[in-house]
Amino acid sequence: MPELTDIRYIREIMAKHGFQTSKALGQNFLINPSVCPKMAEYGNAKSGFGILEIGTGIGVLTKELACRADKVIAIELDQALFPILKETLSEFDNINIIHGDAMKYDLKNLIQQEFSGLQVAVCANLPYYITSPLIMRLLEEQLPVKTITVMIQKEAAQRLCAPVGSREAGAVTIAVNYYGKAVKLFDVSRGSFLPAPNVDSAVIQIQKYAENPWHVQDEALFFRMIKAGFSQRRKQLAGVLAGAFAISKSEMHVIFDQAGLSPSVRIESLSMQELVNLSDQFIRGC
Ligand code: SAM
Repeated sequence: MPELTDIRYIREIMAKHGFQTSKALGQNFLINPSVCPKMAEYGNAKSGFGILEIGTGIGVLTKELACRADKVIAIELDQALFPILKETLSEFDNINIIHGDAMKYDLKNLIQQEFSGLQVAVCANLPYYITSPLIMRLLEEQLPVKTITVMIQKEAAQRLCAPVGSREAGAVTIAVNYYGKAVKLFDVSRGSFLPAPNVDSAVIQIQKYAENPWHVQDEALFFRMIKAGFSQRRKQLAGVLAGAFAISKSEMHVIFDQAGLSPSVRIESLSMQELVNLSDQFIRGC
């Protein structure tokens, strides 16, 4: 079987099946041979693990995962890739590719059914247009997943991995830190893809906490507060939250006072613990 990073072979097999890449589906296929083995190694593809992949393309990462892990389940939206995958992954009997939309598929059920007795990790080169909502989904649904190792746009990687309390942090940074720890593993240049996108990428890993260290009294309220706060991140947080939660400014000042915070503080300067304290004070104040 030829290498799945060989441009000549990729063009040949795409032509054979009349396949053309779709920009709308974020179809930039990896052609740098060093990237997928590295992602698979970092991504816990090893004995005792089942790997969930999102978006197979022609199977370049799927193959590296299947060489190392006990089982690979992949979700791919584009039906036109399936005849190609049948050829490129024909030698493996531990891969199950599902036709579906990763944003809508019942992932909890899938993991339960397919990975019984195995530890689970997610490893994927994500389509850019669903990066943030998909990562949020993987975290919020509290799937039994040990690590999430994904290739995303470099700017998105910087935001996800930014320290909480820094100017680069956003609502997604808080969500990631609520469920685990994010680390940047390595950069991948735009020339590593066919077709080449307009931006560079990076591979990051979210290592989920075995036990959540943040004991928030009302998670939904916490995330509502985070989203409202970051939607106007440069403004004074007390004013922003007073508007978003329809609470008077004077009541809001009492809440901030009880949380030990100045009402003029901006959300981007707060630590995780300060955000958790503020959210808990909110419950008393609302
Ligand atoms: N893993 C391959 C690689 O590294 O070359 C392909 C990565 S490509 C960036 C993203 C893949 O995700 C494409 O195959 C695309 O068809 C698929 N995709 C796009 N939207 C999807 C969705 N909502 N659910 C599942 N797969 C999707």
